[in-house]
Amino acid sequence: MYRDNTKVVKIGNVAIGGGNKIAIQSMTNTKTEDVKATVEQILALEKAGCDIVRSTVPTMEAAKAIAEIKKQIHIPLVADIHFDYRLAIAAMENGADKIRINPGNIGSAEKIKAVVDVAKERNIPIRVGVNSGSLEKDLIEKYGGVTAEGIVESALDKVKIIEDMDYDNLVISIKSSDVMMCIKAHELIAGKTPYPLHVGITESGTVLSGNIKSAIGLGNILYQGIGDTIRVSLTGDPVEEIRSAKLILKTLGLRKGGVTVVSCPTCGRTQIDLISLAAKVEDMVKDMDMDIKVAVMGCAVNGPGEAREADIGIAGGNGEGLLIKKGEIIRKVPENEILAVLKEELERL
Ligand code: SF4
Repeated sequence: MYRDNTKVVKIGNVAIGGGNKIAIQSMTNTKTEDVKATVEQILALEKAGCDIVRSTVPTMEAAKAIAEIKKQIHIPLVADIHFDYRLAIAAMENGADKIRINPGNIGSAEKIKAVVDVAKERNIPIRVGVNSGSLEKDLIEKYGGVTAEGIVESALDKVKIIEDMDYDNLVISIKSSDVMMCIKAHELIAGKTPYPLHVGITESGTVLSGNIKSAIGLGNILYQGIGDTIRVSLTGDPVEEIRSAKLILKTLGLRKGGVTVVSCPTCGRTQIDLISLAAKVEDMVKDMDMDIKVAVMGCAVNGPGEAREADIGIAGGNGEGLLIKKGEIIRKVPENEILAVLKEELERL
């Protein structure tokens, strides 16, 4: 498995690579200069299960805000830098646990070296990020367009620049909004570099399309043993990114913990409002961390069977539900009490 053999990189107190747990990341969408709003969002992300958070640093004020933000949060903070090497340095001086740069847009070798020198002094990891959208012209020409091969070559070139400056505390990310290209690029790079890979599908769209693209893209990549940390990108509340990332990892068997809700698609047999019940159950359990399965089924045909495999389940009847625990029917509950009874039972587990 590739991820068991990548280099271990420490981002604050979170280690990635070398077979460590796949860390879930997200990015704030507040103005980083607004310490209060940014801290609030990071705390919500922490609560949802975010392991590492990234914030953009487009101004010197944002770089300075990092010091204050760091005092109020509990997970490592990554500074996202574009164009201005001075912001990368200031972010590190203000306590960033990692910086994300694209050396291609930082400019001259001297500027990159100035950033690398500070990172080296403080042992701060650098994530070298390349996107298909910013692929160099010569690589586009060489490969006859924007290709997975081009993205990989671009990333490895950037890494080499930093390695030649005698620094190897690195993480690589290669991103494309083209899911198949992104999968191919990861397959190509995985055997060619020892550095941990940050995997994500970029600009993947709003919640529905972003979730589908990320599930397919990340699912394929992670299933091949590639990827040490992930981000699901959604045009929406970043907290949703964490929920999706957790679900992807859980579905692949790469993370444990958290309540899994299974529910039936409903059909003509359903005699309770199962759609809204399933949504309410999902919402109710989203922050519970016990490792169990809850089944919310529409009727007694498949309900008890499915619920047998679950730790706790409901099978709908006519305006009521059967409460099932480990396959055994416990009692009948009126429809309007199902949610409350389920909550009580879960809290008792
Ligand atoms: S569990 Fe019952 S209600 Fe749900 S889809 Fe199956 S048959 Fe229909």
